[in-house]
Amino acid sequence: MSRTGFSLRQMLEAGACTRCRLCAEVCPAASAAASGGLAPLTRLRGVDTLLLRDRTLLAKLLRRRPPEPAALERFAEDAFRCTLCGRCESVCPLGIRLKELWTTLRGELVRGKHFPAKIEAIRRNLEDSRNVFGEDNAERAEWVEEMRRPPEHGFRKEQAEVVYFTGCVAAYFPLAQKIPIAFAEILEAAGVDFTLLGEEEWCCGFPMLGAGLMEMFAAFREHNLSAAAARGAKAAVFACPSCYRMWREHYGTDLTLFSAPEMLLSLVRAGRLPLQELSLTVTYHDPCDLGRGAGVYDAPREILRAIPGIRLVELAHHREECLCCGGGGNLEMVDPELAARIAAAKIEEVLATGARAVVTACQQCVRVMTSHVRRNRVPLEVLDIVQLLRRALAGPKRPPG
Ligand code: SF4
Ligand code: SF4
Repeated sequence: MSRTGFSLRQMLEAGACTRCRLCAEVCPAASAAASGGLAPLTRLRGVDTLLLRDRTLLAKLLRRRPPEPAALERFAEDAFRCTLCGRCESVCPLGIRLKELWTTLRGELVRGKHFPAKIEAIRRNLEDSRNVFGEDNAERAEWVEEMRRPPEHGFRKEQAEVVYFTGCVAAYFPLAQKIPIAFAEILEAAGVDFTLLGEEEWCCGFPMLGAGLMEMFAAFREHNLSAAAARGAKAAVFACPSCYRMWREHYGTDLTLFSAPEMLLSLVRAGRLPLQELSLTVTYHDPCDLGRGAGVYDAPREILRAIPGIRLVELAHHREECLCCGGGGNLEMVDPELAARIAAAKIEEVLATGARAVVTACQQCVRVMTSHVRRNRVPLEVLDIVQLLRRALAGPKRPPG
């Protein structure tokens, strides 16, 4: 790897770490793996010593030898065993932008051809199918047919005020499809003029960020932007925090962007969603990309407070301190066992609250936590806030979900 994709700021940050270990204490991956090799400060040191130091003028003058390929391979494996949850960055007293460093690092490792085999599968799926799972992209909106009364237009309008960008997980996982179904029913009930992009929706690019494949991103971004523009949309809404984050940080669009909880709260406040009582004690899991990533902490909690009969008990780690569910950073694809261990720790914390349901605002968190409770027969309901709100919506009764 001759030139570097690390910026000057990142190179300085990599060498500035004081090794205070605060990041290591909060890292869910290092703690679930019980391995110091996964600790953020260890990875940062690897960036400095393995990838950056041999490029300095001093290193060249001293003829410092480049790192051994085997050491780089080991380092690369560990670099992808991280959920990109950003908890490390939130505690770093030097304000080192660790999350951005981790994604630049992955890009560098892929460029140098040091990466886990799964990354190649992600690249192929995206190239061939335009979604991360390698599914037929023409089937992206097939979940609409699962609705009790799918409208004739199938939510694929030529023109609409709002684009509902569903994301790959909600489009293809039967378990997660309940979320777009509930969201579409709510938007319809509130009279929101919205459309899906259907097969014209391509992956938002988030898996590329996590897989170090950002050189693929521009084509996907351009495609999604022109599909939204062709519908004359003024706004876009996302029930997936990772799609929301990609659009906010990497799309550079004039559209007004809303996370689902923000849009739903404004509809609740405007009196467009009459709510009936639900008697339930819940806890709320802040998705990493919605909470630490976008600072959306209050909207989902306000929605919970607006539903009569809902009692919210907070997790021991909540808001900025919330611990990842294990579903981020493509970890499930690279090391499913580690992802499952992180999920187990999460569910243990949820159960300690005594809540009967854990509510979140992310289809991937719902999928990961539901898989864990089903596999282990844990008596706990896992719901997206969209599903809970749909349940509370006054009107014709719907099947649970
Ligand atoms: S982003 Fe999360 S999983 Fe990755 S190193 Fe930081 S704290 Fe650990
Ligand atoms: S918290 Fe920041 S300064 Fe402390 S060890 Fe981690 S990266 Fe280094």
